[in-house]
Amino acid sequence: MDFYQGKVLRVDLTSHTVTTEPLNMEWAERYFGGKGLLFRYLWDCVPHQVDPRSPENPVILMTGPFAGTNVSTASRLVVGAKSPTTGILDDSYAGGSFAPEMKFAGYDAIIITGKAPQPVVLWVKDDQVEFLAATDKYWGLKTSEIEDALREDLDEEVKVLSIGPAGENLIPWACLSTDQFHKAGRGGHGALFGAKNLKAVAIRGTGSVSVGDARAFLADMRRIHREYVLTAFNLWANEEGTPILVDPVNGAGVLPTRNWSAGWFEGAGSINSESLLKVKVGNRACYQCAIGCRQVHEAGGVRGEGPEYETIALCGANCGVGDLEALMRFNRECDEWGLDTISCGAVVALAMDLTEKGIADFGLKFGPSEAYLAAPGLIARREGIGAELALGVRALAAKYGVPELGMEVKNLELPGYDPRGAFGMGLAYATSDRGGCHMRAYSIADEVLEGTRPPDTMEGKAAQVIAGNVSNGFIGQNFSSIKFSGIFCDFWAVTPEQLAQMFKHVWKRDFSEEDIMTMGERIWNLGRLFNLREGVEPDSLPRKLYARDSAFVDGPSAGKAIGEETFEATLQEYYRLRGWDERGVPTEEKLAELGVDVRL
Ligand code: SF4
Repeated sequence: MDFYQGKVLRVDLTSHTVTTEPLNMEWAERYFGGKGLLFRYLWDCVPHQVDPRSPENPVILMTGPFAGTNVSTASRLVVGAKSPTTGILDDSYAGGSFAPEMKFAGYDAIIITGKAPQPVVLWVKDDQVEFLAATDKYWGLKTSEIEDALREDLDEEVKVLSIGPAGENLIPWACLSTDQFHKAGRGGHGALFGAKNLKAVAIRGTGSVSVGDARAFLADMRRIHREYVLTAFNLWANEEGTPILVDPVNGAGVLPTRNWSAGWFEGAGSINSESLLKVKVGNRACYQCAIGCRQVHEAGGVRGEGPEYETIALCGANCGVGDLEALMRFNRECDEWGLDTISCGAVVALAMDLTEKGIADFGLKFGPSEAYLAAPGLIARREGIGAELALGVRALAAKYGVPELGMEVKNLELPGYDPRGAFGMGLAYATSDRGGCHMRAYSIADEVLEGTRPPDTMEGKAAQVIAGNVSNGFIGQNFSSIKFSGIFCDFWAVTPEQLAQMFKHVWKRDFSEEDIMTMGERIWNLGRLFNLREGVEPDSLPRKLYARDSAFVDGPSAGKAIGEETFEATLQEYYRLRGWDERGVPTEEKLAELGVDVRL
């Protein structure tokens, strides 16, 4: 079928065997691709209640139908698994050019199970698959080093998805890296690769992706790019990128500062977009992306992409660091060792807080220092203070008897928006399908960036988190589910109606906006079933972020609090609107209405 390659590669690392099978097109029609199809395969492939770090737990690399075509921003890769960090599903996305190369090699998905007896690199060249010994040559290399080595040894054009030493040492927030700066960051997929003795997947494809009537498709894509992509609504990402968020978020008093002890950072002016533009040296783009949001900066002897907003928030303000060069070096260290910057910034900030309060002594204080810069490497190697910091926020805070200082949901460290001044984000974090994540429902757009809804009330927020407000680029959970099945990048504020125009090319039939939103809701419910099956924790938020006695005493969000009863009532309203029971379990009626094809 056009757009799909119709083939899945299954790899068993234990026995060094591979098989191929047809892509399940019934599932593809029901769940489209990317996130949705990934969830359906995970439901099928993950043994119930499996230990996430056991060889039986698969990790799946999934593409979308548009990967390898010229549809802007849609050549992204999603990596999915039962997360070794959260114990529930995690879908993590990376740009670059790995996903189109998978399609050119002939695969929509690669399902990897087992554990290699010795470290390996999986080398896929079209239909040839090899297991390269990695112990002596590749194991231990940082992320840019392994990419360089594999390009030199295998093929100048090879695309690499790899782990750094952090993944080898099973750090809970080890990420996957591709094209040096692109990360499948959240959920510990790097640790999953490490647990499988898998250093990297290297791929090279020489095929192509059929789009059916190429002339008609290309003409329509030219129109879509002109009318919907190359507009001011998206091109802010090219000009300034996500650092543009620093000033409005700080101005609203919701920028996590010094381990979430404040929502306003006095040093933000040194790490905001204006400061980064002074050291900007160019832009880069993922495969066939017309937006090209990747900001390349050079300062303090560091040249590279980023830091993105979330890194600025967690590794900058939340660590009390307003020194741009130090922040860029910290970011680069995380990239090279293979660490997610959100979680790494969060745990370093917690260690600083514990030290400042005299609860522990990690030699870390808020602000830039040599100890701050050394932390990522120590964590990745589990050396010195890194051995304890590698516990992650939840376990580290619990170890010192202060769980209230650890800001996480379902053991995923929270990103850069404090719900005390943007209440909707509290519900978004609590109900996210992978733990503390801002990518499923971005209510900050309505509450802070556009100011279209009051930030300090929970009224209407349950519906908002579910449905979003696509007119101003705020994605809710249902729409993000189908958008990420596309797999469209966050930075194209695409609408359901625009998705319908593109989906029509794939399935040769019309889609209504309602069809699109129903698919999204179907995928969200499928994810919920998976998480319930695997024993997901109750939906909740750190008490500090909603309790009345934890409101900020100063700053723009001073005195605001969701309140315990209001938070609980809004959660119940959310379940009702979803058609779930009071425990958050989807009802049979809802599953049947949506066409979800699995049951608990
Ligand atoms: S907008 Fe940026 S991150 Fe998204 S696909 Fe384009 S270049 Fe990649």
